[in-house]
Amino acid sequence: MIKVYIHIDEIHSEALALRERGLSIGFVPTMGALHEGHVSLLRQSISENDVSISSIFVNPIQFNNKEDLKKYPRNLDEDIKKLDAAGCNIVFAPSVEEMYPAEIKESYDFGPLEHVMEGAVRPGHFSGVAVVVNRLFNICIPHRAYFGEKDFQQLLIIRELVKKNAFSPEIIGCPIIREPDGLAMSSRNVRLSEEERSIAPVIFQTLKWIKQQAGIKDVGELVAEAGQKLSQHKAIKLDYVWIADEKTLMPVRNWHEASEIRAFIALFMGEVRLIDNMKIK
Ligand code: AMP
Repeated sequence: MIKVYIHIDEIHSEALALRERGLSIGFVPTMGALHEGHVSLLRQSISENDVSISSIFVNPIQFNNKEDLKKYPRNLDEDIKKLDAAGCNIVFAPSVEEMYPAEIKESYDFGPLEHVMEGAVRPGHFSGVAVVVNRLFNICIPHRAYFGEKDFQQLLIIRELVKKNAFSPEIIGCPIIREPDGLAMSSRNVRLSEEERSIAPVIFQTLKWIKQQAGIKDVGELVAEAGQKLSQHKAIKLDYVWIADEKTLMPVRNWHEASEIRAFIALFMGEVRLIDNMKIK
């Protein structure tokens, strides 16, 4: 039976006791509204650790858009059932007051990594992510923590975060889980209208097309043409198509400039922001 904690001191004592017994702790932080993508991270944690903890916390300080925060889907009871069914041992679902009882003094600087892509269009987002993840790590003291490649930039930021910190779990990146039509699973997908949902798989199709054309067409040409493909749908407001060095996220000008290259797409459909990415090389 899954244990649910809402207080920091209680879950921290439990985590300490688990460590004292020599048990390994896997940790999966989430913002709830769980889907198969989240569950896949949990499954990996369960397979690699003695005990798995998942957190559910819609972190207000990583939202730069108040409306997005207000409309973020929340369904704690349903989430706990899903985690229990998947074999999660412990859930941590704190309130905002529990996580942020006083003014937040920490801030993080991740250099260029923070100023491109999501960082450029969502100011303060990654600092907010780093603050909450750092607190969650100190509370749950995991040996390993699992993050999806769906939020690839976030995964790199977390890898940087643990380099700076005294306490650092091993960070494990997990593959993107998709709907049968290719749309990357996301808690925000439920907010798409029927029409938007039917168009949304074009993001995955465009990423696949970029991969097919890589090495044939120039990078710049591909970025422009991919943008046109997406923007021809009236329902889409494109944020960016970005082809970059996977390690630094700096854009590449040709296919030989980096050994590992990834393509990223971010766009709005109505008020819903969708992101996706694919390894190209
Ligand atoms: P979120 O609840 O959106 O903050 O996501 C919590 C974790 O689940 C993050 O590490 C995400 O990258 C990961 N995640 C979200 N969607 C997917 C997906 N479709 N496939 C794999 N991981 C995902």
